[in-house]
Amino acid sequence: MKVNYADIVISAASKKQYPKAPIPEIALAGRSNVGKSSFINKMIQRKNLARTSSKPGKTQTLNFYIINDLFHFVDVPGYGYAKVSKKERAKWGEMMEEYFSEREQLRATALIIDSRHKPTEDDVIMYNYLKHFGLPVMVIATKLDKLKKSQKHKQLKTIQQVLEMEEEDTLIPFSSETGEGKELAWKTMLGHLNM
Ligand code: GDP
Repeated sequence: MKVNYADIVISAASKKQYPKAPIPEIALAGRSNVGKSSFINKMIQRKNLARTSSKPGKTQTLNFYIINDLFHFVDVPGYGYAKVSKKERAKWGEMMEEYFSEREQLRATALIIDSRHKPTEDDVIMYNYLKHFGLPVMVIATKLDKLKKSQKHKQLKTIQQVLEMEEEDTLIPFSSETGEGKELAWKTMLGHLNM
């Protein structure tokens, strides 16, 4: 996949700000600091378009990116950090619910997790949350370059088992450092986008 054009469309806090263009969309979710922005930047070959926006206390928004004028990536704010107040958490939950339950052009999701560790409780909750909306989930096991070759197979198997991944979902070993997995990630995404 050659990305000729990528740009941010809007940081949206609520439905009325979502882009109106009726083009298909893929949402990307993951814990803060897991490597989500690095994943997005690697996929679209940009150094810094997606930035870590997950500083506690900062307004949490859905960041819509347009890719090649054909589809959107939607960067969903990170979850699972301790310093967020109850009020902020509730707001985040409402924003997520509004988006995932109502966005008709949403075709699939990518859940970014850290390949070095067993999925956390938050990862499992998020996987199940996305499945609850009937969405295909691509599980991106990133930071693969940090694993020894001998550990990879076992780690990937553990991820699949702990998440109890469904048949329709694809596990994609990935590294934003080396670019490993990029081709499979694009192939899977374009399949979900019917492109
Ligand atoms: P985000 O908060 O999920 O958007 O995380 P970032 O993309 O900002 O990444 C968090 C940290 O992990 C940064 O220091 C990145 O350089 C590092 N990182 C992200 N992806 C990879 C990867 O595939 N390999 C390695 N070695 N480091 C990574």
